[in-house]
Amino acid sequence: MFGAAVIINVANVPESGMDLDGEEPATILDFPEESEVRKVSPVGYRFNVQAVSGKLIVRGCLEASAEFTCSRCVRRFVQVVRDADFKAIESYADRFATVDLTSDIRDAMILAFPVYPVCSAECRGLCPQCGRDLNRGRCRCVSSSGDNRWTELDQLAIKLEGEDTHGRPKKKKVEE
Ligand SMILES: [Zn+2]
Ligand SMILES: [Zn+2]
Repeated sequence: MFGAAVIINVANVPESGMDLDGEEPATILDFPEESEVRKVSPVGYRFNVQAVSGKLIVRGCLEASAEFTCSRCVRRFVQVVRDADFKAIESYADRFATVDLTSDIRDAMILAFPVYPVCSAECRGLCPQCGRDLNRGRCRCVSSSGDNRWTELDQLAIKLEGEDTHGRPKKKKVEE
C-alpha cells in the first residue's frame, strides 16, 4: 500500500501566501494494525501556507473522527479528533524544493488522539466488583471502592477549605 502524503511545492506558494485544504486517507496516520483505535476517517486539513526566507510556515487545523473504546465502560464510541492550532515550520533549500508535511500532520494528530478515551465526561464506568456497566443502573454490590472515592474527595475538599491557595493552613499554627 502506498502511504498518503502531503507535499508542497515551494514554487507554488505565492509571496502573499496561500490557503490550502483537502483530505488525506487515514493511512497518513500510520496506526498499527493492533491499535485500539478503529475506523479512522480521512484526515481533513485547512492550512495557510507562507514561504518566508527559506522557511515554509504552515498554520491551520486538522480533523478526523475515529472509533474508540471508552477507558471507563469499554463501550465503543465515535469521536472527532481535532488540532485547531496546527503549526509547522520546515526549511527548504530553494524555490524549487518540495516540503513534505506528512510527518508533521501525523505527529500533531497522534498527539490530539486521547490517551484515555472517555465516551462521555459523565461515564460511570464498570463496577470494579461485578463488572456491570453502571451507566445502565446500579448493581447490588456493597459500595466499596466506588463510594470510597467520593469520601476521599469530600475529605480532600474539606481539607482544602481550611487552606489558602498555596496549600498552607489559613491561620498560623499556634505553637504549643
Ligand atoms: Zn464510557
Ligand atoms: Zn457491582
